[in-house]
Amino acid sequence: MSENIKVVVRCRPMNQSENEKKRENIVEINEYSVSVANPSASLTQKKMFTFDSVYNTITKTDVIYNEMCYSLVESTIEGYNGTIFAYGQTGCGKTHTMQGDGNLNNSGIIHKCFDHIFETISMATNVRYLALVSYLEIYNESIRDLLNTNENTRMINHSLKEIPGIGVSVPTLTTHPVINTNQCYNWLSLGNKNRVTAATLMNEKSSRSHTIFTITLEQSPFFSSVASENNLGGIRRGKLSLVDLAGSERQSKTGAQGERLKEASKINLSLSALGNVISSLVDGKAKHVPFRDSKLTRLLQFFLGFLRRKHKNSYDFLYFTIRVRL
Ligand code: ADP
Ligand code: MG
Repeated sequence: MSENIKVVVRCRPMNQSENEKKRENIVEINEYSVSVANPSASLTQKKMFTFDSVYNTITKTDVIYNEMCYSLVESTIEGYNGTIFAYGQTGCGKTHTMQGDGNLNNSGIIHKCFDHIFETISMATNVRYLALVSYLEIYNESIRDLLNTNENTRMINHSLKEIPGIGVSVPTLTTHPVINTNQCYNWLSLGNKNRVTAATLMNEKSSRSHTIFTITLEQSPFFSSVASENNLGGIRRGKLSLVDLAGSERQSKTGAQGERLKEASKINLSLSALGNVISSLVDGKAKHVPFRDSKLTRLLQFFLGFLRRKHKNSYDFLYFTIRVRL
């Protein structure tokens, strides 16, 4: 099972403000590892973490998609579940990676998934596909439906439900059928408009909520005119979840107060629960994995369950960054 999950790091270039302030680069990038120096204790040894891949500051999202996402998306088209997950501090490039920078030449992973899925579906000959999209936001531990077109009910909190054989889902979420990439883009941008955004001192464009855009692909064989008993029930369902998390930084650093502070602690609740889940999975000996502690970890339970093995050290990095940032 371990090969079912890949953990990679993408390092963004220094931004204008960092360059102006002549910030020091403390990350050394190698093909499969990064070494992080402690700027306030330069004599201490660098911490090294290993990954399935490490992408440097000039790598294009195309390369990351082809190397890391292509085969996963292929398998969701074939009927499996897949998740692409962005984690990191505000301003580190999660949205840039997942949604691009608005420039068509530099589109994000979500857009590339749409293109890939519909290109493959359009060439399928013996099967027909039904594609459905949904988009949810976890904000202050409430689940909101970003694709609910009814303004009066958009703000209601949706409940999670555990469905045997399917896993944890949000059954009351609206789902919309889509037949091409444009329709997907339209739903994604409608959802983004609805997404709660609030500026923080660290990055004023950054979102304060976690989002999961899901595309479900139901596949059924074309029936011949004389249908046999065997080919009637041949529906397969694959699900691709595209996750963009709120920033993982400490609230004191962002100057949060009042509502923002409440917001930050709830955001951190999901993130600290994620940290606890990763730590008990990495530990391997822990009997209890606290998936149930937050909405995020419940929704991602299926995916997180795969984190048990492989490069323990790369999960250590996630755990380390979660611990360091909180
Ligand atoms: P996050 O979603 O993690 O808070 P963003 O994706 O909004 O961060 O990125 C913060 C800023 O850095 C944006 O202006 C974005 O365009 C820029 N940026 C992030 N990653 C890269 C990258 N790999 N190359 C160039 N610019 C990047
Ligand atoms: Mg973001």
